[in-house]
Amino acid sequence: MDLPVITVPQADPGAAYRAQQPAIDAALSRALSSGWYILGSEGAAFEREFASWLGLPRAVGCANGTDAIMLILRGLGIGPGMTVVTVSHTAVATVAAIEMVGATPLLLDIDPDTYTMDPDELAAVLEDPPPGLPPVRAVIPVHLYGQGCAMGPILEACRAAGVLVIEDCAQAHGATLGGRKLGTLGDAAAFSLYPTKNLGALGDAGIVATADAALADNMAALRQYGWKQRYISDSIGVNSRLDEVQAAVLRVRLPLLDGGNARRRAIAAAYDAALAEGRIAPPTRREGAEHVFHQYVIRSGERDELANRLRAMGIGTGIHYPVPVHQQSAYAGRVPLGPARCAETELASREVLSLPIYPELSDAQVETVCAALRIVAR
Ligand SMILES: *Cc1c(COP(=O)(O)O)cnc(C)c1O
Repeated sequence: MDLPVITVPQADPGAAYRAQQPAIDAALSRALSSGWYILGSEGAAFEREFASWLGLPRAVGCANGTDAIMLILRGLGIGPGMTVVTVSHTAVATVAAIEMVGATPLLLDIDPDTYTMDPDELAAVLEDPPPGLPPVRAVIPVHLYGQGCAMGPILEACRAAGVLVIEDCAQAHGATLGGRKLGTLGDAAAFSLYPTKNLGALGDAGIVATADAALADNMAALRQYGWKQRYISDSIGVNSRLDEVQAAVLRVRLPLLDGGNARRRAIAAAYDAALAEGRIAPPTRREGAEHVFHQYVIRSGERDELANRLRAMGIGTGIHYPVPVHQQSAYAGRVPLGPARCAETELASREVLSLPIYPELSDAQVETVCAALRIVAR
């Protein structure tokens, strides 16, 4: 059987490189010629530029988004004998980072309209923690698919309970809530800079941001063996450094991020219009939120058939995520769940489908997807 030719891949990081090739090649050449490859002037400049773009005083580069979460947790002193609350409907990295520091993850369900943490379930577990669990010290809301969580009620519940808030911004670079950038609302924020993210390197990279200068200093030491001074470990650290080559690429891309997000929103509006009057609902927008469409996710009880029909029309799709963290064999039966037992998460995992969305999609590719959506949503 011949497989259909995919003319619109679900993601295409190579297209971003080709679109920016002269600037990226110049940056690579500058970094390579410098003779300094780890934690140098490119990385320091990227940290300053990223912090200033986000609107926080400090940012610290690291090796990837998982480490970014881990460094914040360790930097805040969170570890064994403490519970960290997050969701099961996320990249497994969020939960893996909690276990990397020896803390216990408690996984909550999502609000099915926005696919983000259910704030009522959070308030309930903070008020009346599940028996047998260590004390809750932090909450990690995940701004999934490019849209903010219900941060008003989440921050209120966390403040009342005296727990820290760590924003997982790996899918939400540049998104806002009430006019404020995500990543500036909690105690610290973790960003993945994986190639397909809204801001991506040409390899692995990550960055943390915070207004807390002591925490930033801690994390800067932790990412390099706990050094404050070369060769002298004041604390037990790790190796999670950002390299100069990736930092040079990221400095080319940071100024393009807001424009790329605007292009994603324009593509989302075109998909919305193609779905209007059909039986597939466009993704829900939270009031007061600016979405950055890391993913454009639709939902269907016949998800797999829908994916096959789109594939036959040359359109690639993805599933984020096909198996909730608490049902994956590494975690199943072992990781504690909130009182909602992740029922909406399990339902969503069977029905969500991510369409192609990235700034380099051509108008013709967008129209190919729109034409297909008008047919399959009929
Ligand atoms: C990508 C991602 C991460 C992890 O980032 P890596 O750079 O792959 O380690 C964490 N959380 C979420 C929600 C992500 O999408």
